Amino acid sequence: MIKSKFKENQASGQISAITGSLIKIKGLENNVRLHDLIKVLGAVNILGEVIQIYSDHIVAQCFENTTNLRINEEVISLNEPLSMELAPGLLGKIFDGIQRPLQNAFELFKEGGLKRGLEINSISRKTKWHFLPQKKINEDVSSGDIIGTVQETPLIDHKIMVPPFVSGKISFIASEGEYTIIDEIFRLKINSKEQSFSMLQKWPVTKARPFKERRMPYEPLITGIRVIDLLFPITKGGTFGVPGGFGTGKTVIQQSLAKWCNADIIVFVGCGERGNEIADVLNQFSELIDPQTKRPLLERIILIANTSNMPVSAREASIFSGVTIAEYFRDMGYDVAVLADSTSRWAESLREISGLLEEMPAEEGYPAYLPSRLSSFYERAGIVELLGTDLDENQRIGSLTIIGSVSPPAGDFSEPVTATTKNFVQGIWALDAGLAYSKHYPAINWLNSYSNYPEYISEWWYERDLDWVESDIDWFDCRKQVNEILSKDNELKYITQLIGVENLPEEQQFIIFIAKLIKEGFLIQNAFDEIDSYTNTTKLLGMIKIILLIFKEGKELLKQGFIVNDIKKLNVINSVLRVNRSIPNEEFHKLENLKNKILSEIEALKLIRGVYKIK
Ligand code: ADP
Repeated sequence: MIKSKFKENQASGQISAITGSLIKIKGLENNVRLHDLIKVLGAVNILGEVIQIYSDHIVAQCFENTTNLRINEEVISLNEPLSMELAPGLLGKIFDGIQRPLQNAFELFKEGGLKRGLEINSISRKTKWHFLPQKKINEDVSSGDIIGTVQETPLIDHKIMVPPFVSGKISFIASEGEYTIIDEIFRLKINSKEQSFSMLQKWPVTKARPFKERRMPYEPLITGIRVIDLLFPITKGGTFGVPGGFGTGKTVIQQSLAKWCNADIIVFVGCGERGNEIADVLNQFSELIDPQTKRPLLERIILIANTSNMPVSAREASIFSGVTIAEYFRDMGYDVAVLADSTSRWAESLREISGLLEEMPAEEGYPAYLPSRLSSFYERAGIVELLGTDLDENQRIGSLTIIGSVSPPAGDFSEPVTATTKNFVQGIWALDAGLAYSKHYPAINWLNSYSNYPEYISEWWYERDLDWVESDIDWFDCRKQVNEILSKDNELKYITQLIGVENLPEEQQFIIFIAKLIKEGFLIQNAFDEIDSYTNTTKLLGMIKIILLIFKEGKELLKQGFIVNDIKKLNVINSVLRVNRSIPNEEFHKLENLKNKILSEIEALKLIRGVYKIK
């Protein structure tokens, strides 16, 4: 075995075959473990990952294009798996799947593409951060305890934590001041030996970061998208899949979530998009202002981008890279959401590599380990009790929510990636080509979608209910009624087509009318309208309660001999259909006025018809 001339003590070998992004290496087989990183030296410093080890050679997948590589080029083992660098300086950045900072890369190579073998640190070693110590010398600390903080952005306090599996007595801690992420920040005495720590931690992407215990979900992740928050809610720490054919609105949903959902931090993993789409997303986020905090949204976002012209292996790593960074922020006690768009592109990269390895394919050419890989991604979500305590010795809680979109070819939800995803998530927002075609956006099909979370969060909603006596049903009952109305409406669809709506009994016509109000006045939501794009919880409850109030009062009217047309002609109906775009979240009193107007118009109707008997 040849010793590398570049680095002492590093095992090295030589390329013996090249097939696409895979390379065969002889000479390293006794010195590497599965998933260790290797580096091809020479003209292009390409990184790769060991994926097979045999007695006389190993196979590695390269994270970059292998064109122009030659047989016999030297390869060294880096003796560590692909890991993420975790430290202040992550927020607002855009990385590729192996955490190379794309902004810097693009600045260096303005022509747009990336040069191979680019070596830039993931996080700047030069930027200085203002460190505020929170512990003192001689204190005992263990994994997850907060040593100090750095105000990374005006919103996010970056907690500098004792890394997992470490505990000891503090023998040195830096005083308040400016430090880079590689300066020494604290030293611990561990079993009479001293170990030095900086702000920088590293963590292998395929290994979940440890925590104490999972908790049951109890709080919704509010998305501002009405159909989600009412009918198919997701919780903090939950998992959801968004399957939908081309053009059904997956990207718009993921982007709306990134903009509006109430997670503290968003990790957006863009898989297999075109380069300019990623650039678009970045531009959008840098211009947008967070409605709650009035700060630029980019300050809470980390983007992982794998454009389709980057090699497949980097794409395969990207969702795990994203989730690892997310876990690190979860460990600080934040609510973090990972949005992966689209996991199908990720699965395709898995299929491509598996094909190169000549593995026995399972369904539709995907490898047999597709389910286990997908589950190892989604199972990293959850709301958890974290290691370590806060400054007042309280238990800290953090959450990691994962939402992955899936693009089934030809919108066929029985294909392997969609079907497998369904096994690992707690809910699905099924996007429907028919709805998208008729411009019903978001095109979430209310009959095929589901969420397993409503029972867990009904209490949360109950505490935030409106005190409207006239419409005294809580969030949980609202969803039940809406579901019933929509499914009855669906049952009536065929008979309506057959005999025409006007030939149905009044009660059935009324159901169809209320379902129309629900669809057009509540479910349809324009992601690009300033007022409509985000609905807060109070407006959501107000909007649905108003429609259900019309339902309740209307049923009474029908009993008293009125017909559906009388109700349709009420002046308020038009205003109800325009609430989404005409009443901003902050002007809730307008919704209350509208509710009162409905009641008085109905009263007036009764009076005109003389239903009230004169006493
Ligand atoms: P996909 O990612 O599934 O291919 P997109 O998210 O790009 O689809 O959506 C396609 C188009 O549908 C968008 O460009 C937009 O015009 C429209 N669209 C999707 N969702 C909405 C929405 N909520 N509001 C308004 N328009 C939407």
